[in-house]
Amino acid sequence: CGIVGYIGTEDAKEILLNGLEKLEYRGYDSAGIAVANEQGVHVFKEKGRIAALRNVVDTNVETTVGIGHTRWATHGVPSRINAHPHQSETARFTLVHNGVIENYEQLKTDYLAGVELQSETDTEIIVQLVDRFVNDGETVEGAFSHTLSLLKGSYAIALLDNQNADLVYVGKNKSPLLIGVGEGVNVIASDAMAMLQVTNQFVEIMDKEVVLVTRDEITIKQLDGTVMTRSPYTAELDA
Ligand code: GLU
Repeated sequence: CGIVGYIGTEDAKEILLNGLEKLEYRGYDSAGIAVANEQGVHVFKEKGRIAALRNVVDTNVETTVGIGHTRWATHGVPSRINAHPHQSETARFTLVHNGVIENYEQLKTDYLAGVELQSETDTEIIVQLVDRFVNDGETVEGAFSHTLSLLKGSYAIALLDNQNADLVYVGKNKSPLLIGVGEGVNVIASDAMAMLQVTNQFVEIMDKEVVLVTRDEITIKQLDGTVMTRSPYTAELDA
């Protein structure tokens, strides 16, 4: 299982699919990508190999921003519906997640009465919570941090907002996640190897940090909003 993300100037679909292929060694049962443009967010996902996912991706969608996922099912059978990315009820938010949310049933009871879940995953709770808190009046960044502060378990997460195609929200706890930095391009990856096609400069993210990723900037914060500074290192690997 693994996560990739891209925000830059090139075709995001191809870079995400190539990145997911580099993560195949980690094992998976399904895969998906979500890409954003002025029209909103477009999700493509499929059970099985990345090759099967390639067949369902609409090559006509022009996009320079997106997130991708290979799933190793823990909650819910391997299927197209349970494959990531998952979207909130309003379809405003789209999310990929590696890991296990131990308290997802409690969170559903506490915050999501009346929400009709589309999948059997623990993951879907996360994206529905973000939408709920934004609906309640929180900023997207606030809702994202609020949601992460409620999660028990492990996660590497990337989130898209269909009202802002120029920003990817990232968070992690006990699951690996790196940010790769370039000139006018930034990437997200569970393993640097997946994004060496774009950059070899990576920044390590610590548990319970949130990262706001745009083309030109990455902003690392703790869940309470404290801004962190960290320098990139050079990944010495063969692409
Ligand atoms: N627990 C999530 C699921 O079953 C994520 C699994 C993974 O890490 O791929 O969908």
